Amino acid sequence: MGIVVQKYGGSSVADATSVKRVAQRIVATKKAGHDVVVVVSAMGDTTDELIDLANEISPLPPARELDMLLTAGERISMAVLAMAIGNLGQEARSFTGSQAGVITDSEHGRAKIIDVTPGRIEKALQEGAVAIVAGFQGVSQTTKDITTLGRGGSDTTAVALAAALHADVCEIYTDVDGIFTADPRIVSNARQIPRISYEETLEMAANGAKILHLRCVEYARRNAMPIHVRSSFSDKTGTWVVSSEAARTVGTKPARDAGPGSNSEETSMEQAIISGVAHDRSEAKITVVGVPDKVGEAASILRALGDAQINIDMIVQNVSAATTALTDISFTLPRADGQTAMTALARLKDSVGFERLQYDDSVGKVSIVGAGMRSSPGITATFFESLAAAGVNIEMISTSEIRISVVVAESQVDAAVNAAHAAFDLGTDEVQAVVYGGTGR
Ligand code: ASP
Ligand code: MG
Repeated sequence: MGIVVQKYGGSSVADATSVKRVAQRIVATKKAGHDVVVVVSAMGDTTDELIDLANEISPLPPARELDMLLTAGERISMAVLAMAIGNLGQEARSFTGSQAGVITDSEHGRAKIIDVTPGRIEKALQEGAVAIVAGFQGVSQTTKDITTLGRGGSDTTAVALAAALHADVCEIYTDVDGIFTADPRIVSNARQIPRISYEETLEMAANGAKILHLRCVEYARRNAMPIHVRSSFSDKTGTWVVSSEAARTVGTKPARDAGPGSNSEETSMEQAIISGVAHDRSEAKITVVGVPDKVGEAASILRALGDAQINIDMIVQNVSAATTALTDISFTLPRADGQTAMTALARLKDSVGFERLQYDDSVGKVSIVGAGMRSSPGITATFFESLAAAGVNIEMISTSEIRISVVVAESQVDAAVNAAHAAFDLGTDEVQAVVYGGTGR
């Protein structure tokens, strides 16, 4: 049997008892005949605590040292997990990201994996050991310094290792039973999705669903690596994130080597039009009021934001009023970048000649996602009617081929999510969702 990569999030290894419980699951997988590679996150809230510690010591901790500090969290969990597995009579060896061959660029705090050379992991597996790898970290190819991949990056470590090792599957263990049609904390009858495509999962993750790290899904799609999202607290079947062809079939689990859809028990099924509703409360909205409607004005506004390293999301520009030849440009951006953006834009006031800036951080984004909307007319109408019936005012709209997003007042996010969820009949009769841990990671 092949290689299985399992990733355990911080809430799955929050304390000694949880570490021992996870060790048992790992040993059971090994006993079933698989080679097992485990990627772990830092225990519980360790990463947040380390960040607090750094901030107490220094207002602006040097990025290199902050990465060195944060990677210590994962080193604690990998070592104690290896000990717990050893206690069960199974050899386990822990490796830092660097030792496991996770090579990155040199962008501290948000490094990208550029290569994985898992020679030491392969050797450990050949010798019958379980390999435990510290998630969320690597080593820079150029500076040789230790880097981190950004918050939540252990998912990406797991998928990257799975791809490099040609594993059968990458299992992501978390504190919920899988991916749901909406956040069960908002929609009580949210349904667990048995299978979902990479594309839909990317849209969900990019629009606020917290279940998987965005880059991990991108990596999995590029490498056609099936992801199995499950709870480490239960034995439920979880959610498979697979290619869109495999996502359309029902039946037994999609084995990588057999090829999705090759099992004769599987039958093709009409795809659900909408797979889920995602929401995001981490954004803010800026409106540049009274921009002269001239060539190049929007460009200079966006250039200023780009130069300030701000990732903007939705942009809306109105037609200018004929009498004034002035227009308003609104866009959304991460709340954390709000002040930087306002400062960068204020500097342009005279050169661009706009009237004023408006900042609103009490907004939220609600998105419906589904590959089936490509071929079904009327989806937007149904979505908007449901919002209207719930008394939700739409402030901005954006769409992709398989997603429709609206910006609404933050206080109306819950109502909007529930309305859309009900309008597309995504709910189930029995309550399915159990949140076992705390954070959803
Ligand atoms: N421990 C890191 C974090 O909390 C990485 C991870 O959990 O994936 O962001
Ligand atoms: Mg974490």
